[in-house]
Amino acid sequence: MSDETRPPEPQQFASDNYAGICPEAWAAMEAANRGSMPAYGEDPWTKRAADEFRTLFETDSAEVFFAFNGTAANALALASLCQSYHSVICSASAHVETDECGAPEFFSNGSKLLVVASPDGKLTPALIRNVATGRSDIHFPKPRVVTITQPTETGQLYSLAEIREIAETCRDLELRLHMDGARFANACASLGCTPADMTWRAGVDLLCFGGTKNGMAAGEAILFFDSALAEDFGYRCKQAGQLASKMRFLSAPWVGVLEEGAWLRHARHANACAQRLAAAVADVAGFDLMFPVEANAVFLRAAPEHLDALRARGWRFYTFIGGGARFMFAWDSEPARIDALARDIRAVGMSAAAAA
Ligand SMILES: *Cc1c(COP(=O)(O)O)cnc(C)c1O
Repeated sequence: MSDETRPPEPQQFASDNYAGICPEAWAAMEAANRGSMPAYGEDPWTKRAADEFRTLFETDSAEVFFAFNGTAANALALASLCQSYHSVICSASAHVETDECGAPEFFSNGSKLLVVASPDGKLTPALIRNVATGRSDIHFPKPRVVTITQPTETGQLYSLAEIREIAETCRDLELRLHMDGARFANACASLGCTPADMTWRAGVDLLCFGGTKNGMAAGEAILFFDSALAEDFGYRCKQAGQLASKMRFLSAPWVGVLEEGAWLRHARHANACAQRLAAAVADVAGFDLMFPVEANAVFLRAAPEHLDALRARGWRFYTFIGGGARFMFAWDSEPARIDALARDIRAVGMSAAAAA
């Protein structure tokens, strides 16, 4: 190996996408690599992965598709529910609004995102009703879909009751309900509920289930719980450049993580790591939790010089949400590294206190 490809420094927690491929996904890709097989999703791995999803979600009628990443999954899923003159209600902090470069609008030929500000980044029935009924004239894009992120971009959860209430509001207003589940596994692990209870039984029409942040190399699954909504979705994927020719390498890892529950095990580990860091720094002055820790994220608010001091100690993190330091945990997060991070946070907090 050249120096550039050597494993670099110790583990960082800037993103759950820093993690490698989990052993279960890797083994399934290895197994899928034996011999030749039909292309474009006609292979046995893709059928098996879709069947695994139907088993996991306790439904025979779900239609399952595979895309390369979450932006494509969300954008195509929303586009499939909308005409160009429709609109999509989302939170101001939703990934579809802040981190997808306009992909939902692009793939829907112009459906507008109706962005709702809320104190905790979560939508509520009242907020949805307010936007959806604010205008009903021909000059305003007609509300058609609500999208919620579970867990949210700041690591918070909608309870099952909250999802059901949102779904009820949607039914009442003739809106569809989409769930961005880039970290769906973390939500299931944290709430301890079944995937079915969190989605179609609660009234969710369409789910994007993230594989990448759960330990796969790439890949998100799109689940239509009402198969009628999936009509022609395959064409949409193909046109958008999301139909993998060697589909088995996108679908086999799902078999690997779903079959024996690795998806949930990895998510539990990541969530526990977030709790570990949060507990270890809870009493450190100058570093305050910005959001309740309910999944695999910890956000710490601190003065810019404290964040700089932490960077100087070699830690990487993003501050693009609310200015605080974001730490994300994954299937491979090492407890000893989390403890090292906690020690450095404490040391920075203490030296700042001493200087004051
Ligand atoms: C990571 C993420 C996605 C998917 O992002 P890609 O980089 O396109 O895979 C979607 N939604 C949320 C909330 C995410 O955190």
